[in-house]
Amino acid sequence: MILPAAFIAQLRSLLGQADADAFFNALQGDASVSIRMNLRKVQEGMFPLEAWVPWCPQGRYLSQRPSFTLDPRLHAGAYYVQEASSMFLWHVLRHCVGDCPVVMLDLCAAPGGKSTLACDALPEGSLLVSNEVMRARAQVLAENLTKWGNAWSVVTHNDPADFSPLVGMFDLILVDAPCSGEGMFRKDAGAVNDWSLEAVEMCARRQRRILADIWPCLKPGGWLIYSTCTYNLSENEEQVRWLRDEWGACPVSVPVPSEWGITGCLLEGEDLPVYRFLPHKTRGEGFFLSVLQKPVEAEEEQPPVGRRGNKKGKSGNGTKDRLPLLPKEIMSRAANWLHDPDSYVLMPQGTGLFAFPLLYKEVLQRLRDSLYLLQAGVPLAEVKGRDLLPTHALAMSTALRPDAFQRVEVSAEQALAYLRREAIVLPGDAPRGFVLLTCEGLPIGFVKNIGNRANNLYPAEWRIRKSLP
Ligand code: SAM
Repeated sequence: MILPAAFIAQLRSLLGQADADAFFNALQGDASVSIRMNLRKVQEGMFPLEAWVPWCPQGRYLSQRPSFTLDPRLHAGAYYVQEASSMFLWHVLRHCVGDCPVVMLDLCAAPGGKSTLACDALPEGSLLVSNEVMRARAQVLAENLTKWGNAWSVVTHNDPADFSPLVGMFDLILVDAPCSGEGMFRKDAGAVNDWSLEAVEMCARRQRRILADIWPCLKPGGWLIYSTCTYNLSENEEQVRWLRDEWGACPVSVPVPSEWGITGCLLEGEDLPVYRFLPHKTRGEGFFLSVLQKPVEAEEEQPPVGRRGNKKGKSGNGTKDRLPLLPKEIMSRAANWLHDPDSYVLMPQGTGLFAFPLLYKEVLQRLRDSLYLLQAGVPLAEVKGRDLLPTHALAMSTALRPDAFQRVEVSAEQALAYLRREAIVLPGDAPRGFVLLTCEGLPIGFVKNIGNRANNLYPAEWRIRKSLP
């Protein structure tokens, strides 16, 4: 890898000569491969493991890189392929949030690595709003979150400035900012070619715009987590100092064991609590993270949104009376697919029906008033007359009642044929109608079995194109 001279000079000045040499040496090595498991879907035993990721209990380093695309378990949302340093967010969320449900915004969320992590790290009953400004990337985000299967989430497709009406709405905001990507040099050669000092400055200006747009949406007392995958000071410590000096944000420290090898503040004259992952000291790619808290003005103090109103599953007052005009029998048939139907409100959307956590019905209305929603809760079904066609999102959802549909277990080979959207033939004694296919016990999607063949209901736009070697 040939590094730009200005980058080399920048790193020498940042780390000092000896440390910089060790850093450049590490950049010439291979990036490690790691996954994070979805413990709501699988337990252990998926791959030959090399080690655990110390700062995230679901994170595993793999001893080799398998063909992830040809693994049906990936498409079933059993794990996410994620760079290990990024999983530090798990430790930070667990430290900041504790056990009280929150409403979190992941502002720059695609393709969804940190959002899927947050689904598991936030306390039960929290709501995650995942946003992405780029249209195509927002679709990928929705796909990855659908596969992860968490019903307590919303996917939006907006510019940060569009959030301006939502003042004080979020208990926690993650800005995993678009950056110059120096930390990805080892994984992505293209990132080296795109790098320049001008690009660094442009990124720093854009990050300030994003932060200024979203800061008012953070509730007093709430946390802002700011992260990048780059090394330079302008996009990292200098942004934290700016947030402190211009916006009154209070940098917060998170205890970390010294054996994790995390590096602290590198800005001279400051001792900011920031967390840097450098490839010669930690096993992962370059990453920077900081936590800042919004000061609480006495009169503005409010409990987190998740604590207000009714507790999960214990309310329902009047909500059902205001349900849309679909026949009751259809609504209850769809609700019956969920293992905890009282926690959800069913709503129509176009020709479909989706289930959304009852606790956050008003939050959803506020989001709908200002933002463009791509997905909310679990899309349950398409309604065709009196028929309900279950969605793929329902097959993926951990809210699905395990015995709601008949299941047929298929081999990995058949599962791949299904994921390529090929025709499937089930055994003669397989049940007719909507059948949930499983592979290693994991739901991979629905077919409609009509006997001599089973219609493949896998979403056409997600079908895999790669063949077995
Ligand atoms: N958090 C993601 C994850 O863990 O998978 C990675 C996010 S990536 C570092 C930054 C994201 O910011 C990209 O998806 C990019 O499209 C988005 N982005 C680019 N320009 C933006 C802007 N002006 N405002 C908000 N987001 C932007």
